Amino acid sequence: MWKMQAYLLSLSTMATDNNRFQAIISHCKEYGFIFQSSEIYDGLSAVYDYGQWGSELKKNIKDYWWKSMTQLQENIVGIDAAIFMHPTTWKASGHVDNFSDPMIDNKDSKKRYRVDHLIEAYADDLEKAGKKEEAEAVLAKMDQLLAASDFDGIKKLIEDSKIKCGISGTSNWTDVRQFNLMFSTQLGSVTDEASEIYLRPETAQGIFVNFLNVQKTGRMKVPFGIAQTGKAFRNEIVARQFIFRMREFEQMEMQFFIRPGTQKEWYEYWKAERMKWHLSLGIPSEKYRFHDHVKLAHYADAACDIEFEFPIGFKEVEGIHSRTDFDLRNHQEYSKKKMQYFDPEINQNYIPYVIETSIGLDRTVLMVLSHAYTEQDLSTPEKQDSRVVLSFPPKLAPIKLAVLPLTKKDGLPEIAREIIDNCKPYFYCFYEEKDTIGKRYRRMDAIGTPFCVTVDHQTKEDQTVTIRYRDTMEQERVPINKIKEIIEKQII
Ligand code: ATP
Repeated sequence: MWKMQAYLLSLSTMATDNNRFQAIISHCKEYGFIFQSSEIYDGLSAVYDYGQWGSELKKNIKDYWWKSMTQLQENIVGIDAAIFMHPTTWKASGHVDNFSDPMIDNKDSKKRYRVDHLIEAYADDLEKAGKKEEAEAVLAKMDQLLAASDFDGIKKLIEDSKIKCGISGTSNWTDVRQFNLMFSTQLGSVTDEASEIYLRPETAQGIFVNFLNVQKTGRMKVPFGIAQTGKAFRNEIVARQFIFRMREFEQMEMQFFIRPGTQKEWYEYWKAERMKWHLSLGIPSEKYRFHDHVKLAHYADAACDIEFEFPIGFKEVEGIHSRTDFDLRNHQEYSKKKMQYFDPEINQNYIPYVIETSIGLDRTVLMVLSHAYTEQDLSTPEKQDSRVVLSFPPKLAPIKLAVLPLTKKDGLPEIAREIIDNCKPYFYCFYEEKDTIGKRYRRMDAIGTPFCVTVDHQTKEDQTVTIRYRDTMEQERVPINKIKEIIEKQII
C-alpha cells in the first residue's frame, strides 16, 4: 500500500528541471550508460562513448526503428552505405557550398561562437532581467539579418548590443565568417597524390547515390522508400549539451521516393506516421510538438521538426523534409547518370520527388532516458527511503530479466542459473547474488530492468518464484515455467 502510494507520489519528482539534466548525465555515467570519450585523457569535447547498458539501450532503439521502417512496411527496404563517399557527392548535395554556419571569434580568448547562439544567449539574459521586449527585438533583428545573409549587419548588432565573450569578457570581435561543418581527411597513402574526402555529415546521400541500384535490383515501384542507419560527423561549434549535440553521432533516415506533385500528401502522411512511432515509445503526446520551418533549407519545399520536451526545453529530435527532386537532379547533373524512373501507371519518365524522415539516434536515446528517469520518495512514517528508477518501455530496456537467488547456498543459485539458461536465447537476462534482495532490486531499478525474479526456499518445494515489477514494485508468485511467457508478452 505504502509502495503504491509512494509510486503515485513520485510524479512530484525530487529533481527540479534545472538540475534534472545534470542528474541524468551523472546517472548515465554512474550506471554504465554513457561515458565521455577518452576520459582518462580528460575527454574529447562533444564526443561520447556508450557503456554496457547504454549500448544495449541504443541498439534496442535502433532495432525498433529499423523494424518499424523496413520489416513492417511493404515498400521500404534498408541499405548500409559507406561513411566515405566520392567527394563530388558533397558538391552535388550542396554541402560544400552551403553546409556552414556564420561564426565569429573573440580576438582575446580565441573562442569561436555561432552568431545565432551568441545572440540568443544575450537575449536570454535580457529576458531573465525582465527585458522581454528588448530580447524579442534583438532576436527579430537577428532573424532578419541572417535571412538576408547580412554578416556586416550581424557584427554591428553584436557590437551595438555590447555582447561580450564569456571567457575574455571583452567585445573584441573578428568579422563574421562562414564555417563549414564537414570534417575532411585524405584518401590514399602518399600525401601529394591523396585526394581530400569528407566524413559524411548525413546518411541521406548514401541513399541517393544508391537510388538506381536499389530501384533496379529490388524491382521497386514508386512510391517506395530506402532506410539506413549510421554514423554522421559534424564539426559542431556549440557542443555543451551532452549527447544532444555531438561531433560524431548516429542518424536513422528514410528517403521516400514519390511521383512529383504528390509531395504534399506524402509529407502529411509521414508527419503523422512518425508521430505515431514516437507515441508508441510510451511518451505522452504533450511532450511532443511539431515545429514548422519558416526559413527552408536549400533543398526543401516544406519541412518541420518533431520536438520533444527535454529537461533543457523543447528541442528537435527528428526532421521531416519534403526535398523535391533536388538531390537526385543534382546527382544526375554531376554524375551524368540518368536518375529517372519510368512510371508504368502514367507511362512517363521522371526524377522522383523525396520525402525524408531523419531522426538522431543519440537524441532519441537522450529522449528515452529523459522521460524514463524518475526520482521517487518512498518514505514511510517509520523510515526515510527513495529510489531512482529508469522506467523504460520493456521493449527498450537493456536487461529484460534479472534472476536473483535469495542466498548463495542451498541449491538456489543452480535453480536461478537454470532459469537464465532457459530464457537467455530469447531476451537479455542478468544474474546477481551479492547483497540483500532490496539492494539488488534498487540496482536493477536504476538501470531500468522491468522484471526481477527471486528464487527462494519455497521454489525448491513448489517450483514457483517471486516476480517483481519495476514500476509498481508489486510482487507475485508465479510458476517457473511461466516466466518466459510473461516477459515475452511485454517486450514485443
Ligand atoms: P540542429 O538544428 O539541432 O543542429 P539539424 O536540423 O541540423 O539539427 P538535421 O540535419 O535535420 O539536423 O539532422 C537530422 C537529425 O539528426 C536531427 O533531428 C537530430 O536528431 C540529429 N542530429 C543532427 N545533428 C546532430 C548532432 N550534432 N548531434 C546529435 N544528433 C544530431
